[in-house]
Amino acid sequence: MLTIQNVSFSYDKTPVLRDVDLNIVQGEIMCLLGASGSGKSTLLRLIAGLEGDYIGDIHLNGQSIKSIPVHQRDFGLMFQDFALFPHLSVADNVVFGLKMKSLSTIEQQSQVEAALKLLGLAKFSERDVTQLSGGEKQRVALARSLAPQPRLLMLDEPLGSLDAGLRERLMIEVRDIIKQVGLTAIYVTHDQQEAYAVADRIAIMHDGNIVQVDTPQNLYQRPKTPYIARFLGLKNIFSPSVFGEQLHTDEKADAILLHPDGLSLSDEGQLQGEIVERIFRGNTYRLSIKIDEETLVFNIESNQPVPDIGSHVIVHVEEDWVIALNST
Ligand code: ADP
Ligand code: MG
Repeated sequence: MLTIQNVSFSYDKTPVLRDVDLNIVQGEIMCLLGASGSGKSTLLRLIAGLEGDYIGDIHLNGQSIKSIPVHQRDFGLMFQDFALFPHLSVADNVVFGLKMKSLSTIEQQSQVEAALKLLGLAKFSERDVTQLSGGEKQRVALARSLAPQPRLLMLDEPLGSLDAGLRERLMIEVRDIIKQVGLTAIYVTHDQQEAYAVADRIAIMHDGNIVQVDTPQNLYQRPKTPYIARFLGLKNIFSPSVFGEQLHTDEKADAILLHPDGLSLSDEGQLQGEIVERIFRGNTYRLSIKIDEETLVFNIESNQPVPDIGSHVIVHVEEDWVIALNST
């Protein structure tokens, strides 16, 4: 549906996007996930038409969007700092999103009502937005961006300013609503848990590049580079020679990841070490096990006997979970 081809962009000769390629399929939620400064917002601004001077091309349903004026693109945008109008009611804020469209007053009203209902805001319709909680404001902003039924909805860290509990609830809600309306969406976040919960696919951005595009599960289970593995919070990344003898690792890889999901304590394991840290975390213990000069970290379920710090243990590494990482 949306195809980004070899797009590069600089601010004052400083490259910010480099050779970005990305395909977004009709009806999917694509998350752009990356550290702060990796270029996520800039890419959204290019797609939205807020920055024009880029190399490469962006196609919407086969047609270059360079020649389509911003207001004719039918794209919806929602930013972190919702930018609601404080002196207007909830309904009037949502109507604002429809002003670009030539709709009759009746049509406007019915689309506003539908959007408010979808977000559980119908009873707040006439209330001033200053009298709403953070979560309710966020819903109003979402209603405003949904009401015009955009061809593409872009959300830039939409939950960034909310506290953790509310964020967790709303990320599920946002996904459900986007799916219910059947929108195609690009959702920007720097939080992997948020991306996992919201996305159909995730594009990882690093230094202005897209370095991996995959489903949340594939990404977590099969990161391609050491950077991506670390960014996703995966530990146990080593030079391939470190455990080469015990594990027959791929010597051509730049690094290997012993994925935590493939590690367990077992008498039948390949690696021997000593427990140096043991942290109770509810349904799991996090263990750190020193093996020669290296330390392995992984969780084991706490509903079983767990050896104490100082115990000598054997770690079993499932071969399928020894993952070759390459920098490029
Ligand atoms: P992200 O959204 O991933 O945090 P941005 O797209 O906002 O990253 O920024 C990418 C890079 O572009 C950063 O290095 C940032 O400093 C730079 N940048 C962003 N906006 C501007 C601007 N208006 N002028 C100059 N540099 C900018
Ligand atoms: Mg940003």
